[in-house]
Amino acid sequence: MVLAGPTAVGKGTVAACVRRKHPEIWISVSVTTRSPRPGEIDGVHYLFVTDEEFDAMVAADGLLEWAVVHRAARYGTPRAPVEEHLAAGQPALLEIDLQGARQVHARMPDALMCFLAPPSWEELERRLAGRGTEGPAERERRLATARVELAAEDEFDVTIVNTDVESACEELVDLFRSGTSRVHF
Ligand code: 5GP
Repeated sequence: MVLAGPTAVGKGTVAACVRRKHPEIWISVSVTTRSPRPGEIDGVHYLFVTDEEFDAMVAADGLLEWAVVHRAARYGTPRAPVEEHLAAGQPALLEIDLQGARQVHARMPDALMCFLAPPSWEELERRLAGRGTEGPAERERRLATARVELAAEDEFDVTIVNTDVESACEELVDLFRSGTSRVHF
């Protein structure tokens, strides 16, 4: 299953809730060329790599998808772990941006595409400001991206509105369980 949605909608928080409450669902660890934020652990939140290491993974077709996100850094999904977990029959969740979601949809048409939407545009702006991890210029840039990302909702199989994290998390897990999911469980 692919979980995508606009910046600051809470994809990471919902994924963290799934990780905490549903360890039976495997969550992909992405590679990124951005620097770790305080508290982020290499190999847990991301695999932090250099530009050269990222290039090598792309050249070896080691990434299922990858994209430049917010014109700032490259992010990608290592292919082998996804294939291994699916082959073992374990449900797999990718929390990625819209460009990556489209690539996964093209390469793995069976993946269930799930869009996480904010309750409103105002709430999305509030969440981005409240996160406090970006300065004003970066925030404006991310909001511009979010506007475009929100318009892509109808490319997805299902929408979950992230009004509260616990409910969004349980809705997502229910999708894995229900017949809506074409991913093996
Ligand atoms: P952040 O830098 O705040 O952790 O993440 C920025 C954006 O990168 C988020 O929208 C997140 O969904 C996206 N992202 C994280 N991992 C991946 C990945 O493996 N592939 C793609 N395409 N986007 C990713």
